[in-house]
Amino acid sequence: MAPKIGFMGLGIMGQPMAQNIAKAGYELTVYNRSPEKTEPLADTGATVVVNPKEVAEAADVIIMMLAGPEVITQVLDGPRGLKAGMREGQTLINMSTVLPAFSRQLYNKLQKVSITVIDAPVHGSRKPAEEGALVVMAGGPKDKVSELEPLLLTMGKMVVYCGDAGQGSSMKMAVNLVLGAMVAGLCEAVNLGQACGLDTETMLTTMLSGPMVCPLFQFKKPMLIDDNYPAQFALKHMTKDIRFALQTADECGAPTPVGHTIFQLYRQSMGLDQGDKDFAAVKKVFEKASDPAPG
Ligand code: NAP
Repeated sequence: MAPKIGFMGLGIMGQPMAQNIAKAGYELTVYNRSPEKTEPLADTGATVVVNPKEVAEAADVIIMMLAGPEVITQVLDGPRGLKAGMREGQTLINMSTVLPAFSRQLYNKLQKVSITVIDAPVHGSRKPAEEGALVVMAGGPKDKVSELEPLLLTMGKMVVYCGDAGQGSSMKMAVNLVLGAMVAGLCEAVNLGQACGLDTETMLTTMLSGPMVCPLFQFKKPMLIDDNYPAQFALKHMTKDIRFALQTADECGAPTPVGHTIFQLYRQSMGLDQGDKDFAAVKKVFEKASDPAPG
């Protein structure tokens, strides 16, 4: 029999991911801090509850797609939190981006009460989430990941088994480090071209006609042309993720000179009030640091 699913966190990513689970026919219970975001799920027949404890009571498998570790801890341990409603034999899948060390701690803590934790962060933004085309990077017991693969494939086009608890999160660190570096590099180059007086659209079309063409840069192209950055992946979350990548690199002894540089850039963009914009708004830092146009 298909497991009953609980889903917590209906933000940019969680909303379409939960929609895809509902479309696949799973019995679904949802919770979100801001209740208005539950309405589209209620329309698909999902049960809406008002606290995490009720999600735990209703589900066999609970999925979290929350902002980060502090929120996860609150949602787990709060007065009407998940732990108050959880029981032996359940599975908790954390799809939010957190430190690998946090994933391992969560796994060890809940293993003591016979609850299995899988870390399963995703690669891909809102559009792949809507299309059920995310890449899911899973860590934890391999047999449990295999058992859950049909559920994970309602949200993703592939599931990559990365190893023991925490290794899905380790994979996500490496993925987002390169993602952050690519977009910061693109913004630096576009700002240079603009400072030389080049037309932005012509410049991006030229750049993306050669070997650098890729879906990521294609996706950011209209944002840079229009100088408008609606959040697909919020800059505040990219800043958190680069911070986590640097912490992880420090723990395992990997050098990250590029990571340190881009971290400063994303942090500075937060200071320019860009945190809720798309992470391509890191471009604002390059603009601010540029000499004024002559004349
Ligand atoms: P988001 O739109 O900011 O959604 C965050 C979710 O966390 C919302 O449901 C929000 O509830 C909830 N939340 C925040 N603070 C809370 C609190 N104190 N108590 C309870 N709930 C709280 O973020 P997102 O883009 O969906 O990303 C979610 C996670 O996936 C993050 O870890 C992010 O790094 C990661 N991720 C994002 C992308 C992307 O492209 N967007 C891609 C891969 C991974 P409210 O609705 O009430 O604010």
